[in-house]
Amino acid sequence: MKYLLFAFVLLTNFIHCTPTSKSNASTPMPEMTTDIKTENQGMDTNWTEKVIKPKEEWKRILTKEQYYITREQGTEPAFSSDLYNNHEDGMYLCVCCNNPLFSSETKFESGTGWPSFFLPYSLKSVSVSVDNSLGMSRDEISCKRCDAHLGHVFNDGPQPTGLRYCMDGLALKFVKKETPSTLKKATFAAGCFWCEEYTFEHVIGVSSVISGYCGGKSENPTYEEVGSGKTDHAESFELEYDPSKISYASLLKVFFASQDPTQVNGQGPDHGRQYRSIVFYRNEEEKKMASDYIQELTNSKKYSKPIATELVPFTKFWKAEDYHQDYIKNHPDDPYVQQESFPRYNRTKSRVPEFFKKTE
Ligand SMILES: [Zn+2]
Repeated sequence: MKYLLFAFVLLTNFIHCTPTSKSNASTPMPEMTTDIKTENQGMDTNWTEKVIKPKEEWKRILTKEQYYITREQGTEPAFSSDLYNNHEDGMYLCVCCNNPLFSSETKFESGTGWPSFFLPYSLKSVSVSVDNSLGMSRDEISCKRCDAHLGHVFNDGPQPTGLRYCMDGLALKFVKKETPSTLKKATFAAGCFWCEEYTFEHVIGVSSVISGYCGGKSENPTYEEVGSGKTDHAESFELEYDPSKISYASLLKVFFASQDPTQVNGQGPDHGRQYRSIVFYRNEEEKKMASDYIQELTNSKKYSKPIATELVPFTKFWKAEDYHQDYIKNHPDDPYVQQESFPRYNRTKSRVPEFFKKTE
């Protein structure tokens, strides 16, 4: 049976992997350009040292089949690897050392039964050497980092390289591309922007918060202009959040918990229209969520006075001067921060603790 399998391997190898026109070991390695993200996938594209292990160690790490292919120059039967028909976005790594070898962006349908690529991922992916076994002269492809045998390269591939990297699926490990969820923006105003920025920086799913001005007409407003009350801008904050971690409806709950929404044209000790409370909605859905929640708060009779928060369509957010960004983190001893900002943050957190990051 073993012999039969070997004969089959030989035959299929001969039929499918025989070059139609032989390439040359000196085939220049083309420049690689792919923008696939390799971070967070546990792969190292900046390695400088080769991976060298004794036979016994490879035998311990690899399956029998993987060892046969990668360390004994084996060839798997055609159409035997699931990776042949894999069309998912991601990266093909060396099964021995995790060296990134090929991006799915360079995989193509070769019809051969072996996973085929027209371009290695980087200059550090593979090396080429002449293989004169089986009565043929072929260009063998090995992992540049650990010398694992991977397959062969031929000159009958598609453009732009015209090369066909005919790989053994058993020598490869596929890592699916992580699709980063799209961040969304939300903009609010509720008095002092230092306080709101600091509070929302501690909210689950919020990746960044910027202090700025919104709701007025003038362009490029300064803190002094806004403070004069003449621009109609309000101290505002714009946040980026991951909707898979926190919903807009939950952000609204934190927003209303962070203030006294019944205070007209002011918040706490800060008075003036520049301190009014506003939800800057970006679409009708957000507007409805905000008005529904205001209705819910009103029905709950939680407040003795009507809610003064305005619902205003978002137009443009102007980032405030640099010294206003992260003001609380940079000035924790400021008397205003001590007497107003920290108590306000703690009050908000105690009202809706479920929305705050646990590590804080
Ligand atoms: Zn390797």
